[in-house]
Formats: sequence, structure tokens, C-alpha cells
Amino acid sequence: MPKYRQRWIEQPPATGHFPAAATTLPCQSCGGTTLESFYELRDVPAHSCLLLPTRKEALAFPRGDIELVFCHDCGFIGNARFDIGLNQYSAAYEETQAFSPRFLKFLDEICRDQIQKFGLAPGVTALEIGCGKGEFLTRLCELSGCNGIGIDPGYRPERNQSSAADRMTFIRDLYGPRYAHLQAEYVSCRHTLEHIAPVQEFMRLVRETIGNRHHVNVFFELPDMERVLETGVFWDIYYEHCTYFTRGSLARLFRAEGFDVTRLYKAYDDQYLMIEAKPAEGLTEARLPQEDDLATTAALVRKFTEEVDRRLAELAEAAQRWRRSGRKVAIWGSGSKCVSLMSSLDFGDTLRAIVDINPHKHGKFLAGSGWEILGPDALTEVRPDAVIIMNSIYTEEIRHELATRGLEPELLPL
Ligand SMILES: [Zn+2]
Repeated sequence: MPKYRQRWIEQPPATGHFPAAATTLPCQSCGGTTLESFYELRDVPAHSCLLLPTRKEALAFPRGDIELVFCHDCGFIGNARFDIGLNQYSAAYEETQAFSPRFLKFLDEICRDQIQKFGLAPGVTALEIGCGKGEFLTRLCELSGCNGIGIDPGYRPERNQSSAADRMTFIRDLYGPRYAHLQAEYVSCRHTLEHIAPVQEFMRLVRETIGNRHHVNVFFELPDMERVLETGVFWDIYYEHCTYFTRGSLARLFRAEGFDVTRLYKAYDDQYLMIEAKPAEGLTEARLPQEDDLATTAALVRKFTEEVDRRLAELAEAAQRWRRSGRKVAIWGSGSKCVSLMSSLDFGDTLRAIVDINPHKHGKFLAGSGWEILGPDALTEVRPDAVIIMNSIYTEEIRHELATRGLEPELLPL
């Protein structure tokens, strides 16, 4: 999905080279120094949701390296080779999933749950840090009657036609200390933390913004790394995501930065990690059973490359099978997962099209591979024998879209 990362944190001076071993870097989440490097990818596109107007620009897009390190003290995982200078978030950033009925249903469920739980109502203000195109905040305001403040450099006012528009303020900027004065009873941050390298400083700023207003409720949503580690889904690791959390490591960061974690759960077929918290006076003790995952995460980290190799072999085998039998293949979903998959696998001339239901992406080009993104209607001409679905949660929706176009290809949901 997402969006943003702040530049207000000073970066270390550029030395022109990366450290040979990342194990000497302090953990961005807890400051610990027991870091273990466990997964590397070279030369991957630095952005995966930034749309390029020409193939030439897409092919020439800046690339960076990924070296995932695991902190044995807190369980945090980050890209030790992340270079903030390679990222740029702007209105050209196209992360929204809001063209999918399945996604909109999920968004509605989350909104209704949060409204009910936290008493969002007229007169109450909800703040969203990294609001993207504003879908969540808008729906929250529409359903509850509350006021909203959204911050994101990628916000596009012309796309928001909400009836709640007069109760919402959008700031097209990155969140930082200059917005510490914004007061809200509810603070949300969805699919944003994974784009932020200095996560400890970020959480500290959020806590400072809330100050002594102890009634404020906080809700964060981000990808769950436990599932990625368990299942070896390497296409969920990409340059834009410089930080990765499990339930335990996220809760440890929240507690260390002055929050009490009240609820910790997974959603959206267990792909997303949700945390609810309240500001606390000082440190709080871990008290939810799911926070206790340090040893299991360490074990998953140890066998991750094995899982990735297994996944890669499976996909390479499918690609080879299609090539040998002269099959035509299409990929459905042109987001970050697709960019990541294309960096690791070569489908050769068996791949005929990459399609997406977001019309704002059509006619634009994928960073790295330079493929043009087409609308689903293009498949009526391509008539693919197989379609790779980049997120299995959309399988039924996509099967239906294909059927309405008279297509019944083999589906490979990832
Ligand atoms: Zn740590």
C-alpha cells in the first residue's frame, strides 16, 4: 500500500560505501547491538509504487541493496543497507488498493471496529499519519461523524469526493516535529511504519505529540513479518519496506517508547499486524501472550533462506513448465509484490502482460523491469493460459473479473 517516511531525522554522513558487515550497526528499534544478518538481495528497484511515465525511466530507476538484519534483543528486522536518499514520496506514488471490492470491505470492517471501540463520534478528532490517498480517514469520518486530520505527501485532493470533506483537513507533507501541536483523541498510522528507518525516534515523536493526554487511543497497522518468515514469501520483501515487525517486536517498541499495548492481532488473512495502544507513564510490562515471540522469531529467521529457496524453486519450475508448453502467462497485481517478484525471477517470453485494476496505473511503467501496466481488458486480447495472482486474498475477485471477460486460465495465487 503505502507511502511515507520522514526526512526530519538527520542521516549519518555519506561515506560513499556501505559497511562490510551490518552486525555492528545499532538496532533502529531498541539500540541493541546483537544483530544477525540473514538475507541479502542486490540491485533491487528503490521504489515499487512510484509510477514511471516511460519505459526508459522505469528501466533506469535507481536501485539499492537489501540486507536484512535481525535484532536478538528485541526481534526487530531491518534493511541495514537502506539509503534514505534513494526514496522519494510524492503525489506520483500509487499505493492505493481501494479499487478492489475485497479491500474496501476490509477497510469498512476496520473502520466500524475502531469507531465502536474508541467511541469516534461528532466532535472527536481522528489523526492519521501517512494517510495515503485518505481512504481510511475519509471512511472513518463518513461513518462516525468525527473530524479528521490526514498527513501524507502523496494525498490527492482531486480524488476525494467525500460528503465528510468539510470535516477533514489534509496536509500534503511528511509527519515531523512541526506537527507535534496537532491534537486528536485518536491517532492512526496504517502501512507507514514499515517505510520508516528510525522507528524508535518516530514512535518517540508520536508519544511526545500525545503528551499527557492519557485518553488518546492509538492504532497502527502494518505487514506481519512472522507470516513472511514462516512461509518464505520473498516477494513481500522490498526496498521501500526498510523495517519489518512481528507482534512481539512491535509491542516491545511501543512499550519502550511509553505506550501500553492493549490489543495485538492479525487481520486480512493474517497478512497484516494490528496494534492498539494507549499512552502510559513510563515503561509497561509485556502482558499479552502473543508478545512472547522472540525465540520463535529467531528460529524462523534461521530457516528463512531455506523457505525462500523452496518458493523460488516452485515458481521457477512453474515458469519452466509454461515455457516448455508454449503457454502465455499474465501477472495480476502491479504493486510492490510484483516488482519484487520480477527482480527475483525471469519468466522469459512466456510472460505476456502485467495488469492491475487501478486505472491510475494503466499506461505507466514498472520500476526495474520496465513492463507497462495494462488494464484487465487487455487480457481479452492476450488470452493468457495462466495468471499469477500477486495476493491470494484477491483470488475470487480476480476469477470473477476473468470470467466476465470469457477467460478461465489456470490461476496461481501467491
Ligand atoms: Zn532491537
